[in-house]
Amino acid sequence: MAKKKNNKIQLVKGMKDILPDEQLYWNLIRTKVDNFAKNYGFSRIDTPVLEFTNLFKRTVGEDTDVVNKEMYSFVSQGGDKLSLRPENTASVVRAYIEHGMLNLPQPVKLFYVGPQFRHDNPQAGRYRQFWQFGFEAIGDDDPVIDAQLIAISYHILKELGLDIEIHVNSVGDTSSRAEYIKVLKKYYQDKKKLICKDCNLRLNKNTLRLLDCKNVKCQELADEAPQMVDYLSEAGKNHFMAVLEYLDALDIKYSLNPKIVRGLDYYTRTAWEIFECSDKDGKLNALGGGGRYDTLVDMLGGRATPAIGFAIGVERVIMKMQEAKVEVDKGKKFDAYIAQLGIEARKKALALFEELRAAGFSVTENMSKKGLKDQLEAADKKNATYTLIMGQKEISDDTVLIRDMESGVQEIVDYKKIKSELRKRLDRNIAKSLKLKK
Ligand code: AMP
Repeated sequence: MAKKKNNKIQLVKGMKDILPDEQLYWNLIRTKVDNFAKNYGFSRIDTPVLEFTNLFKRTVGEDTDVVNKEMYSFVSQGGDKLSLRPENTASVVRAYIEHGMLNLPQPVKLFYVGPQFRHDNPQAGRYRQFWQFGFEAIGDDDPVIDAQLIAISYHILKELGLDIEIHVNSVGDTSSRAEYIKVLKKYYQDKKKLICKDCNLRLNKNTLRLLDCKNVKCQELADEAPQMVDYLSEAGKNHFMAVLEYLDALDIKYSLNPKIVRGLDYYTRTAWEIFECSDKDGKLNALGGGGRYDTLVDMLGGRATPAIGFAIGVERVIMKMQEAKVEVDKGKKFDAYIAQLGIEARKKALALFEELRAAGFSVTENMSKKGLKDQLEAADKKNATYTLIMGQKEISDDTVLIRDMESGVQEIVDYKKIKSELRKRLDRNIAKSLKLKK
């Protein structure tokens, strides 16, 4: 139920409004993601936010926090058990199988940008609805794909102005992972009193998660624990080595981190997380992470198909960009601001605005403002190159006053010639700035 305070309905806990000022960051991130997707050949996919609960239980895992504690699940009016998606990979793989993408040339490369839902404890950078963008390459098991996906996650964040580092590990293939989990259980057997309550619960159900528990004592024990890399099969070791060699060739800054296990059941082999470098204090909040999920297609009833992907949290990236004071473009420059004085001028100005907009100029206005001073100030704020002013005199002379907002110089132009005059001046400015750049 919506909570009321002084009769006002408030935002639901853990949700977040994205206000216009912040949209500058969102636009920047969306454009960056689109450009990377285009270069690397990934196509956009959008899946519904609602899926059958079983999709996540079967894949993410019943014993993970994401499914066990944090899912928004309910029974629909038709009696279906549904959940708001807590992550997007399982849905993408469901769609891959459902739409017969197994029959397309492999790998099928898909990317998404969308909201995810987890009933987590809200705090800075942690919401109950948050956005992720993610890239998935399904149907290829070559280590070069692993390195390319790591490279995409690395370069997107770098180009957004963040100083980041990749932490990489291998969680092994299914059989070597099972072997390693046995070793890990044995290691923790006589340490049950030393680990936290959650880890005691995880010990038998989701043993790998003990390695990434945030509790200080658990961290100390995890530091001393046997490491997965020592239990990799020959093939698993070769795959991991090849990934690292490609990363070296790509000159990507990474650290080997045996505690990167990713929380979810479906991960195999390469796993990585991305951290902002200023976060090196041990209480690291990852910006995102990824890994291979070679068994997921099979788990969902498709034919066994290797796959890999990553997801990055948009709100967290924006938080880090703001902390790092990354400059974002304060919005685009307008070609012209249309100012008017008096009711007759306003009518003509409305028509001029439409005419210029339809002709492809980027124009802006505040038609409800009356004074010229106010309108010139607004034009300045909106970063307009020219202001086109129409008052009584211009109406009776059939002219427009064109004001260069940088120099303040004003000239009278014949109304019929305004489009060509504006174009001429804008082109002249472009030529001038090109010359300056040379
Ligand atoms: P995960 O799928 O849990 O590895 O999450 C990948 C990324 O999504 C994280 O590194 C965060 O950037 C982001 N993320 C996960 N959970 C939340 C949340 N509750 N609120 C905001 N961002 C989140």
